[in-house]
Amino acid sequence: MTTSPKPQSITLLGATGSIGASTLDLIRLHSGSYRLFAVSGFSNVQKLLDICQEFNPVFAVIGDAYFEEFKSKINALKLSTQILKVSDGLDFIARHDKADTVVCAIVGGAGLSSTLSAVQAGKKVLLANKEALVMAGDLVIKTAKETGATILPIDSEHNAIFQCLPKALQDDNTLMYQENFGIKKLWLTASGGAFLHKSYDQMRTASVAQAVNHPNWSMGAKITVDSNTMMNKGLELIEACHLFGVGVDDVGVVIHPQSVVHSMVEYVDGSFLAQCGTPDMKTPIGYALAYPNRIKSGVKPLNLFEMSALEFIKPDEQKFACLALAKQAMKLGNGACIILNGANEVAVEAFLKGKIKLTDIASIVENCLNVDELTNELTKSFENLADILDLDKRVRKIAQLMIYHI
Ligand code: NDP
Ligand code: MG
Repeated sequence: MTTSPKPQSITLLGATGSIGASTLDLIRLHSGSYRLFAVSGFSNVQKLLDICQEFNPVFAVIGDAYFEEFKSKINALKLSTQILKVSDGLDFIARHDKADTVVCAIVGGAGLSSTLSAVQAGKKVLLANKEALVMAGDLVIKTAKETGATILPIDSEHNAIFQCLPKALQDDNTLMYQENFGIKKLWLTASGGAFLHKSYDQMRTASVAQAVNHPNWSMGAKITVDSNTMMNKGLELIEACHLFGVGVDDVGVVIHPQSVVHSMVEYVDGSFLAQCGTPDMKTPIGYALAYPNRIKSGVKPLNLFEMSALEFIKPDEQKFACLALAKQAMKLGNGACIILNGANEVAVEAFLKGKIKLTDIASIVENCLNVDELTNELTKSFENLADILDLDKRVRKIAQLMIYHI
């Protein structure tokens, strides 16, 4: 079934990444229903060029340092796509009048400003960039309420929970504050990552190659490392609190190594509603693209008869200290979440460059949350983007210094 006779016009932020690729597959599959209006990449010039050749978007945004190279290649191919730099182009394509839907799939805090722009412009926002909600959840959700933007989560766990919620809550998450609709708890499932059955010592000595490998999901490098430290689940816990209007203690985390149950909603009558499927991001992205309808995603369906036993395990928060740190940050406040996120991004990047060990990531995040210079920021609420980005910048400098001294 198609969604509407007029194709939905899409801005795809982070088109050259893993979520970007899955979104492009869906647009290919339903080319009559979706049209790629604008795209962004950062450093992958060739991939962005290929996307422009295939989809002919009106705008393409590229990292400032790659602009000249990209421009000459676009010109050589005589493509009509207009090109812009990340520094001023991301917000422009995110809020452009001609875009109906904005897919926010830039990795990290770099995606916050454009996500907020799409929300300010009242778009249908398909949100993968969880870091935006971790840093600015209150601001993003409050702005969506004011502008009428629809935020549809495509992070698989949040998409699963969204699918298991009553329609009234799907339409207005702030209702959760007034009435709980019989909901007892939201359950985020976690794969447990590549080190679930490995010792802390094996985690400490893990190579970069081991840590960018994930047993069930194929994703970008940063989120794969986050999954293996379980910081990803910590970030998702904070994301869930903002998306669904609940507190940290209303969200449970359960390790489910098979990644078949993508998350659950527990109701007071004893019912657990779960969304299940093959672990492939095309299912949640397709759901959100077509919402409230359903479209084919091209995902291989689960074969129930070939499925192994499903396990559910309590996470070890000593081994996976990042999960405990994220809970602590959410309880402390907005400032602590910005610190958690900024420190984690810097630490993951340092790990990927071979500068620190995998287990140092949690130590750096913990030290940033406890450093004297940032104590006054922990419980603060931030109401504008500039202040959020300012704190983020300070945190990153402090984390860099810590790494330098490791
Ligand atoms: P990737 O690393 O695969 O892609 C990241 C994208 O962001 C690329 O297009 C990259 O461009 C772009 N980018 C990187 N740095 C910048 C920057 N400074 N400014 C602008 N653009 C930049 O990541 P994923 O697709 O895996 O993840 C994207 C987001 O979605 C993350 O927030 C992640 O947590 C979330 N998510 C991802 C899932 C997945 O399955 N992959 C699942 C659920 C959530 P380039 O490559 O050209 O440099
Ligand atoms: Mg997820």
